[in-house]
Amino acid sequence: MKIIVLKFGGTSVGSTSRIKKVAKIIAKYKKKYSIIVLSSAMSGVTNNLINLSKKISKDFSDSEYDVLVSSGEQVSCALIAGELINNGFNSRSWVSWQIPIITEGKYKFSRINKINKSQIMSYLKKGGIPIVTGFQGINNKNRITTIGRGGTDASAIMFAKFFNAEKCIIYTDVEGVYSTDPNKLKSAKKIKVISYEEMLEMASLGAKVMQPHSIQDARLNRVDIEVRSSFTDNEGTLITKRKNIVNNKIITGISNTTNDAKVTLLGVKDKPGIAASIFKPLSDNSINVDMVVQNISANGKETDLTFTIKSDDLAKTKKIIFQNKKINFRDLIFDKNVSKVSIIGVGMVTTPGVTYRMFQTLAKNKINIQVISTSEIKISVLIDKKNVRKAISSLHKEFKLNNS
Ligand code: ASP
Ligand code: MG
Repeated sequence: MKIIVLKFGGTSVGSTSRIKKVAKIIAKYKKKYSIIVLSSAMSGVTNNLINLSKKISKDFSDSEYDVLVSSGEQVSCALIAGELINNGFNSRSWVSWQIPIITEGKYKFSRINKINKSQIMSYLKKGGIPIVTGFQGINNKNRITTIGRGGTDASAIMFAKFFNAEKCIIYTDVEGVYSTDPNKLKSAKKIKVISYEEMLEMASLGAKVMQPHSIQDARLNRVDIEVRSSFTDNEGTLITKRKNIVNNKIITGISNTTNDAKVTLLGVKDKPGIAASIFKPLSDNSINVDMVVQNISANGKETDLTFTIKSDDLAKTKKIIFQNKKINFRDLIFDKNVSKVSIIGVGMVTTPGVTYRMFQTLAKNKINIQVISTSEIKISVLIDKKNVRKAISSLHKEFKLNNS
């Protein structure tokens, strides 16, 4: 029995006419596969439920919150199953506790760790199409839990894992993952295949497509994911392991950030332990430092240190640095008008000269690089925000992403 998991959510099930369309999509797969459907709530429903809880109390009980917000999924699952039955299929809905889907952890942020397969399995064997509520489960106290906003992606991936599905198809309102943000660059191309690692690095684009932690779940459990639109018939993007990718491209995608800030400490002592003294209190306060660069000191005594953080953390960071008795510096400067542009691709592991090509392309376009950081499959540069579009379009061309 070949099993696939289909996930629908939000706008894909946003109205009864959309749900009728979803039933047609499910029917298409029925010829070839045993199908397990995971659905999230109709768009807007979960937000409305959360607003109701806020009207009761700002401090609404976490366990009751989960009972409340998980109810939207029950509605969409019943509607999908009802439409399939109408169309002559054998289908029924399952609420998570009926299966059950077992979760672990705190209310609102639980994680699925087991799914009881027996009922669903025998239903599949009889040719039925089970429609299962995403985003939820029960804990060892037999209480309803939810697994975080957008959690139906993770539910679908866990079903694909436990049922050993051939693949997990995430139906959404975008056609897939693009080489760069199509709103920023018209020539952005849909990516046919991308590795989990690249997809995670492209989180700034990917987050809109899929929850990053679900991609991590898929990577750990080796579940192939296809992201595609329920609004068109076009093929989507396959997210899979590196080994499955025969790619002639060096770079798969280009991403950029919009919420970084740069901090520079001028004239700090050039001696062991200074960097640690600067960064320890930041880490103690959960401030995530991303890129770091330290200049070599001209006189052997003093140097400048630059790093980036999220702009939201800027005020807190300034306060912590000024209060830090362990360090001396001449001046502190910061800049919010920066953006980190990254080129991402597993191809760069085996291709020399990628760094040079990136820097030369930026130089030709008179774009100054402020900070650089690299990983095995990514090179990031910090540049002035006003140059982001130019940087993306020139790099997109340089690495031949314009021609798919
Ligand atoms: N309906 C839930 C939410 O809006 C879960 C999901 O969308 O996957 O967060
Ligand atoms: Mg949703």
